[in-house]
Amino acid sequence: MIPEVPLKNLETLWMQVGGTLCNLECTHCFISCGPKNDTIAMMTLAQVKERLEESKILQVKDYYITGGEVFINPEIFEILAEILRYGPLDVLTNGTQITAEKAQRLREIQDASAHTLRFRVSMENFEEAANDAIRGKNAYRKAVAGIGHIAQAGFSPILTITRSWEEEQDAEMELQFIEFLRANRVPRPQIKILPGFMLGQLAKNERGYNEEERVTQACFENFDITQLQCATSRMATGEGVYVCPILVDNPKARMGNTIEETLRPFPLSHPACYTCRVTGMTCKSST
Ligand code: SF4
Ligand code: SF4
Repeated sequence: MIPEVPLKNLETLWMQVGGTLCNLECTHCFISCGPKNDTIAMMTLAQVKERLEESKILQVKDYYITGGEVFINPEIFEILAEILRYGPLDVLTNGTQITAEKAQRLREIQDASAHTLRFRVSMENFEEAANDAIRGKNAYRKAVAGIGHIAQAGFSPILTITRSWEEEQDAEMELQFIEFLRANRVPRPQIKILPGFMLGQLAKNERGYNEEERVTQACFENFDITQLQCATSRMATGEGVYVCPILVDNPKARMGNTIEETLRPFPLSHPACYTCRVTGMTCKSST
């Protein structure tokens, strides 16, 4: 029997504000985002407002936005200001679009809100060649510039990296990433390492899930299933509400048109659920 994850409490609302459009085309992107991928449209300000109103009634505590790349969305600043009226917000970005002027505008939006605005900037490596081998030419240079602008505006972005090394090397890599952030004058260096999901580009470039990689009831004998992020969050997009940010381009993970329609258990039949169970990962900033 396939285990089902209950919705324990809807604490977090994710919104795929950037849709599947991104200015980069990373070789491990698990939703294969890129400049030409418009499978899932960007969210409009009007759509964001609808979901926010719903989230207020449902007593959502915090918000995350992601893409694709959120800073491609032409309404991004209005969207940020609107979400901050409801609660704290973490913005997931590749950092490459953030100029000094945009960072200043972000500062103004933060100063006008009682809720915290926080950034997570994704990169691959503290070395340019290794980073750009995955993210594409000039991605390193632009992300470093973006991090610098955000830091100068008084924010302390969390560097997010998908692990491309053995897990045993985490501690050593962490030290180097922290040093990299210090060198770029980030006030309080923090990093988050995520496992790769064998989907999208990573499945194409490395490998997909094998038959054994599935969750079963036995997986939850000594593991509280409600620790999975899908027990406490949902992912709104321009095209409906999904169970989580990982399965956002999977039709079976689309649970309804509104958040209200998704307040029910979800069967963990997708192989990606195996990665969540094995790593205990969450896409949220605090682990
Ligand atoms: S991993 Fe992030 S930055 Fe890279 S293509 Fe996907 S959405 Fe864009
Ligand atoms: S991929 Fe992870 S977060 Fe998404 S439904 Fe499966 S276990 Fe839950």
